Order: sequence, then C-alpha cells, then structure tokens
Amino acid sequence: MDVTPILQDLNDAQRQAVTAPLEPLLVIAGAGSGKTRVLTHRAAWLIDVEGVPPQGLLAVTFTNKAAAEMRGRIESLLEMPVRHLWIGTFHGLAHRLLRRHWQDAKLPQNFQIIDSDDQQRIIKRMLRSLEVDDSRWVPREIQYFINAQKDEGLRPQHLHDEGDPNRRQFISLYQTYQETCDRGGLVDFAELLLRAHELWRDNPDILAHYQRRFRHLLVDEFQDTNAIQYAWLRLLAGEQGVPFVVGDDDQSIYRWRGARVEHIYRFQKDFPSAGVVKLEQNYRSTATILNAANAVIANNGSRMGKNLWTEGAEGEPIRVYSAYNERDEADFIVGRLRDWSDQGNARADAAVLYRSNAQSRVLEEGLINAGLPYRVYGGLRFFERAEIKDALAYLRLTSNRDDDNAFERVVNKPTRGIGARTVEAMRDYARANSCSLWRAAGAVASDGLSGRASASVVAFLNLIERAARDTENLDLHEKVDHVIQMSGLIDLFRKEKGEQGATRIENLEELVSAARSFEGDPADEMSPLDAFLAHAALESGEGQADAWEDCVQLMTMHSAKGLEFPLVFLCGMEDGLFPHQRSVADANGLEEERRLCYVGITRAKQTLYISYAEQRRLHGMDRLSPPSRFIAEIPADYVEEIRPRVQVSRPVQPRRSSRSSSLPSNGTEAGVHLGQRVRHQKFGEGVILNCEGQGAHARVEVNFESSGTKWLVLSYANLDLM
Ligand code: ATP
Ligand code: MG
Repeated sequence: MDVTPILQDLNDAQRQAVTAPLEPLLVIAGAGSGKTRVLTHRAAWLIDVEGVPPQGLLAVTFTNKAAAEMRGRIESLLEMPVRHLWIGTFHGLAHRLLRRHWQDAKLPQNFQIIDSDDQQRIIKRMLRSLEVDDSRWVPREIQYFINAQKDEGLRPQHLHDEGDPNRRQFISLYQTYQETCDRGGLVDFAELLLRAHELWRDNPDILAHYQRRFRHLLVDEFQDTNAIQYAWLRLLAGEQGVPFVVGDDDQSIYRWRGARVEHIYRFQKDFPSAGVVKLEQNYRSTATILNAANAVIANNGSRMGKNLWTEGAEGEPIRVYSAYNERDEADFIVGRLRDWSDQGNARADAAVLYRSNAQSRVLEEGLINAGLPYRVYGGLRFFERAEIKDALAYLRLTSNRDDDNAFERVVNKPTRGIGARTVEAMRDYARANSCSLWRAAGAVASDGLSGRASASVVAFLNLIERAARDTENLDLHEKVDHVIQMSGLIDLFRKEKGEQGATRIENLEELVSAARSFEGDPADEMSPLDAFLAHAALESGEGQADAWEDCVQLMTMHSAKGLEFPLVFLCGMEDGLFPHQRSVADANGLEEERRLCYVGITRAKQTLYISYAEQRRLHGMDRLSPPSRFIAEIPADYVEEIRPRVQVSRPVQPRRSSRSSSLPSNGTEAGVHLGQRVRHQKFGEGVILNCEGQGAHARVEVNFESSGTKWLVLSYANLDLM
C-alpha cells in the first residue's frame, strides 16, 4: 500500500504520533506545531493503513468550520470521499445522536435547539410568571447557574441547598426552567451535551453499539473540554476504545465556560497505557512572532512547560501602534489592510482579532467606508438578527407547534390584534394545564376570549397550519421562501422607514439563499428543515462564511483558536480591555487572559500588528487605559513602535506632546489637550489628535466622527470642550 502521501511532510515526532500503535495517545504541544495536522493524518492512516472503516472513527473539533476543513483534508489525503465519517463539534455530534435516539433521550421527535438568547428569554418569562423579582434574581445569573450545573452533569435533583436560601431558589428556578423546556421540546446548548451523556449512561445497549462502532476517538483542542464532554468521551471509550487526543495547556481559554485543562492529567490517569508525544517544532510563524509568544506565556506560573522552536526566518518585527482613540486605531488598521489588498494579497489572509465583540463595530464602519469587504465571525451574527429570528420562529412553528418560544415571538408579529392580555390568558391556561401555548391558544380561542380576540387567534393558528400544509412537499429553500411570504413579515418591514426596513428584507432574502445553498451533513437523518433550523441555532454565523467573496476576517481571539493567517492585527490591547477588567484582580483569571494573548499572537504567520488606544469609547463610555501589560512582556528586540505613546490624561493641563510643538498655553486655550473631545458647529464631535503653535496661531488637528480629520485654527474654530 502506498502510504507516502500520508507520511509526507511530517517530522519524526509527528510521524511517531500518526503511526502510533492502536492504543490511547496524548499529543501535547504548543501552537502551530502540527497537532491538527497530525490528527488529520492519523485519521487517514487509520483508514488507509490500519483498515479501519471510516464509520469507525469519531473526530471532534472545535468549530464547524474546522470540521469541514478536516473532512476536506482527510478526503484529499485518501483521494476519496468519506461520507460515513463522523466529524463535528461536541454539540453537533451530541445533537446528531439525540436526533437518532430521540425516544430514548425522552425528547419529542421534532425538538428544537435554542440559543443563549432564547434561553434568557425563557428565564425572563419564567420569572414573570412566577412573580419573582428579576432585579433580585438576575436572569443572566440564573442562566449562568443552570448552564454551569449542566456542564458539570448535574440535574436539579443532584443539587442540595446546603441550608442556603439563595441556592434553594436557584435550584428551584433551574427545575422550573427545565420543566418549561421539556414541555416545549426545547434543548439548550448545555442540554445537548448532558442529554447525550445521559442517553449513553442510561441505555447500555445504545452505548455498546456506539462503543463497537467508534473505536477510534480523535479529539482536537482537548485542553478545552469541560466535565460533561470529558465524561461523554470517557463513556464512549470504555475499555476497548482508542482515544487519540491533541491539545496545548497554554491554549486553554474556556475555563469560564467550564473547560478544565486538568483533563490532560485526568486522561493519563484514566488511560494508564496512554503514550505521550510532544511536538516542539513550530511551522507556522516567523522566529520573531514565535519568540514573542514564548516570552509572553513564560510569565504564567502554572504550565506543563514546553520548548517551541522554529527553523523559519527571523521575519519582520512586531509593529506596535499607539492610537489616540478607537477611531484612530480603526483608521490605522483599515489603511494597512487597504495596502495589503492593493499589493495583490488575498483579503482572507488578513485577520483582525479583538477581545470583545463590541469592538467590531468601529472597525466595521472603517471597512465599509473604505469599501473593503469583510466578514465578522461571532458577534452580531446573521442568524441572531431579529428579522431572521422572526422568520425562523415561523419555520419552527411549522415544524413543532409546541415551541413556545417561537410562538411568543411571532404570535403578534406582524400585529394581528392579539394583545398582551390575550397572550397572558394563553400563558395562564398553559401553566394551569401544563401544556404548550399552541394548545392553550386553541383552548382559549374557543372559550374565554372576546369574539375579536378569538378570531385573531384562530386566524394565526390557521395561518401556521396552512403554511405547514402548503409547503409540505417543497424543497427547503422554497419552503423557507413560502413561509416568509405567508408570515407577513415582508410587508411589515416594508413599512419600516429608511435603511433599516430594507436591510431587514435583504436579510430575509439572504435567508432563502442560505437555505438554497444549505447542504446537510451526509450522516444526518433529520428532515432538511429541521437540519436547517439546527444549523441556524448551532452555527451562529459560521454559515455566512461560504466565502465566494474575498473578505477580511474579523473575530474575537477566542474564535480564532486553531486558525492561522499571514497577516494578523491584535487590537484594543489595553489594560482593562485585554486583559479584561474582570480578570486582572485574580491570578487565575489573568493567566487565562495571557493564554488568550498567546493564542492571538500565534495566529500570525508573517506579519503581526498590535495596537491600543489611549482613549476608547466602548459601550457608550469613555475610558483611558494604559497599554496592555502583555505588550510590555514582549522583549523590546522584537518590537518596532510605529507611533510612540503620547500621554493623554484627564486633568486639563497643557502639556508637551512628544512629537509636536508646544501646546497653546494662554488662558483661553488651556482646556485643550490631546485626546480631548470637542464639538464643532459644522463638523460635530471629534477628538484632538495634534496641537501646534501658540496664541493666535494655535492650531489643532481634530478627528471628527462624521467628517474625518481636519486642521483648525483654535481662535476661529469655536470648539466646545466636552
Ligand atoms: P494550534 O495550536 O494553533 O491549533 P496546531 O498545533 O494544530 O496549531 P497546525 O495547524 O496543525 O498546528 O499546523 C500549523 C501549520 O504548520 C500549518 O500550516 C501546517 O500545515 C504546518 N505544518 C505542520 N507540520 C508541518 C510539517 N511537518 N511540514 C510542513 N508544514 C507543517
Ligand atoms: Mg490546531
């Protein structure tokens, strides 16, 4: 058998891992050392050389994008399609199992996945109906509590209040929440994992079937598995399974979501026969980038410790840009991106990474103005937009009438005379009779509502029934189109004034095209509509990435894990933003932020820019922050400062800027300083970027939010200080 393509371009340690005996194996190695590559080649090796049928493999990756890429690579190594190979995220695979075994999982056949937004809405509604004060019992905290329990594999009955009335209330809310979901056939993200685990735990026959089938478990990004994911793998591996897991303790960045890097140690205990392979050569980054990353992560105390080196060239220095404010930062980044694109590089080879989703808006504005196409991963994702969720709610109702969330979302959207009081009556009925709102609507419409209200409710119920019936035999995209047309949403948005309504309609059209290009996973067995709805809930925006257009990539550092780009910008590198305010007080939190920084730096192959703003408006607040401490952790030898830091501080004191002449110093101009926000009658609000000259000659450069940068003579400009 010709195994050369599978073993080509692997170093000795990588080859050792790929060809390892059929026993548990742990590959532990730093960023860019070929872990994902080894995993992919191992899959091909098992199929081609060890003769394992593709359906005998289960591969778990971190995103759906990574899963699709991995399938492609395995297929190209094997030069054949591998349809029956299960590759996916933990959530995606758990979902597939639950679809197959819905009865044993005690779910209705058409159960729906709800995202975190839906989950919060259910909790709010629950609090309202229980008349619980939501300022004392904060929905977000309840949500966090519920998910944390599920991530640990705990149901309400496993929890004890330990005499603490607060905890008692949390447990009881968890219980009620779960009952609500069960009644509506709703499954949140954490529930997917927990149910899939219980399915196997409680059904030995089903477990035995999968244990026989999946002897080979390949897991990427193993350092970020949480308790329930680990338990699920452990169960599946049983006594005979051959887990092959790869990870990097320095890249564990989901502790806040229950991930436990300790699973690396646990694995070695649970599988004492496991071999360990370390990879030490980095193939991704220039020596400068790699050394910088190594220097930063060396500041963490708790590490397994590894030695990562490269044969690669030294490369360019890391360029650090000190911006006056977030707009200046965005302008800088957009300028570099434009150069990059003008030089004939692929835009998709450039990524802008940030700590917090909210940072993307200013960058997006800059990119739009510059006419540079971009795509945001995460953040305000396509499937999370209000109009998309409305349309999906209609579709969900046609698939599952008992979906209360969908019902409430659209029962009166567009308005059809079903007022709050009518909905309240349905809720009361549903609560009293432990039934869905759909059933309650039918019941109260025939008894208990005024004639008009009753007619409106019946019309709504009929609309959904008709939509379901009329579209029964249509193709998925026709079905989506048809349901949208029937819903009345288009007319509703047409009435909305200005851009907004038009954009919404465009988005609905986009949903139809998304359905048209949607291809289910060949291993899935659900209806195309259910598969599409699940995709919408699970993918959260990854779906928009069918990149026919070459786009700059925008994403959080978290979602960049595992990816690589020739050109990377790490922006918003300010203390308080990154490391995040929440985590600086606590050593563990700070170390996790530093790992995130390590992940960010190591995404870059050739060129890395780091930027920070001295003044930033975020979430409607202005903040002045020092540069991130992580910048100072990079040895100066690797860094080139593009613009030296200029002190901006709140006290209104004329000061010398480090790069320009002195500031106006007479009394009338004393209020002006770099970074000062000002308002101009014609140009609106802006920030002072630069000052020159004295007295009557004093000039300032102001970056106006709506009209860009302008030089103004202070004595004429009549600026209001803000
Ligand atoms: P991360 O920790 O970021 O997930 P990783 O360890 O999974 O990184 P890969 O993404 O598998 O690393 O590999 C990093 C880059 O190095 C990829 O572009 C890969 O193709 C390349 N690479 C890995 N091993 C080799 C090799 N032996 N020869 C040439 N290129 C390699
Ligand atoms: Mg990887």
